[in-house]
Amino acid sequence: MRDEPAGTARIADQLLHWYDRNARVMPWRVSPADRAAGQRSDPYAVWLSEVMLQQTTVATVRDYFRKFIARWPTVQDLAAAQDADVMAAWAGLGYYARARNLLKCARAVSALGGFPDTHAGLIALPGIGPYTASAVAAIAFDRAEVVVDGNVERVMARLHNDPTPLPAAKPRLTAYAAALTPQTRPGDYAQAVMDLGATICTPRNPACGICPLRTPCAARAEGTAVSLPRKTPKAAKPVRAGHIYLARSPQGAWLLERRPDRGLLGGMLGWPGSEWVASGEGKAAQDKALVPPMAERTASEADTPAPVTSAEVTSAQDTSDRAKSEWAESDQAESERATPQGGGRNKPKATPDATPPLPADWQRVGEVRHTFTHFHLILTVHRATIPDTTPGLTPAADFRPGDLPTVMRKAYDLVAAADAPLASARLPPGTVARRLRRPLPLTYC
Ligand code: SF4
Repeated sequence: MRDEPAGTARIADQLLHWYDRNARVMPWRVSPADRAAGQRSDPYAVWLSEVMLQQTTVATVRDYFRKFIARWPTVQDLAAAQDADVMAAWAGLGYYARARNLLKCARAVSALGGFPDTHAGLIALPGIGPYTASAVAAIAFDRAEVVVDGNVERVMARLHNDPTPLPAAKPRLTAYAAALTPQTRPGDYAQAVMDLGATICTPRNPACGICPLRTPCAARAEGTAVSLPRKTPKAAKPVRAGHIYLARSPQGAWLLERRPDRGLLGGMLGWPGSEWVASGEGKAAQDKALVPPMAERTASEADTPAPVTSAEVTSAQDTSDRAKSEWAESDQAESERATPQGGGRNKPKATPDATPPLPADWQRVGEVRHTFTHFHLILTVHRATIPDTTPGLTPAADFRPGDLPTVMRKAYDLVAAADAPLASARLPPGTVARRLRRPLPLTYC
């Protein structure tokens, strides 16, 4: 391990020079040329993008960002939005605590008359943690804050050839990053390191030959780049199980519920169901939950936009890994609250309560499998036809599957796939025939 890479003072200049020619085009970003011409970043756009990018890929965030900006062009517009509209627009992005905090923060900023321009002012806002405060202060206000996401950690570990495994290495990697952060153009510099990590210094295949830091990089010199940063092996995720009930009337109305504001998927639309309790399934089930056999995949996986799951996020090369701890912790806390009967790894196994929300001729359709940050979930899906007079139904005209969070959308897709007339009505051309060839019971991962 090298304490200081050679030419430390020049590294920021080298990176900025590279960034001026290679900056990625982002809908929320002011290009280096425009910035040099005097254009400033919109703090609202920077903040919104940073919240969306936490544990979510750039490719996924682009469309969501454009949708939010088109619908709510200013932070005042977002502050005035209905909670349900924002939660529906967020559906599919995951980590739904972000959407709830987004609204709280927008309303606080609107009440203040605008975003604070310092780290201290930003971190005092609801839902803004240390990473987001640093990123917004640097990128929107050109403050010399130290911005460290997963990409930056990787570049720093390699630049210094530091073998310390994460997460223990975090303080040292942050110190490396702080030593390199310049007083001039700190916002561009922060984005330059992130871009380098996302496009050149990638996790599995770093392109050292074209890297602007190839000369001072200690890992390139030692041939250790691909092995860095090291990571402490994670314990296997527990598996939880539950039942979920999709009821529809002959007129096409659905029995939906809005989940409580607090807890996993808080504030989102969903289907009635049991609690999610620790499952007796072993490692085979966990493996299956992550990598289902191709034979069990439904056509919808290929035909619809990819849902965002933590498994995909951790495997995506372009994932920013932003503020992982900020959101992973809140997500874990939420998941524990959501499963009081047995969410923890050391808690006794239990059988989920299979009591339907109302009497009907319930039929088991199959299973959906979904991975959250801290556990795999297997839901047994049931469906029934209920009377049009059932209280609380959502009329067919008011139901938009796209408003559902991913795991609930999977259950809907499973029922749609098992129901030929419904599938014909809702699926893109060419997908129905393949679905109809599938045997029941179905599994949707
Ligand atoms: S030289 Fe290679 S390992 Fe070092 S920072 Fe560049 S891409 Fe990463």
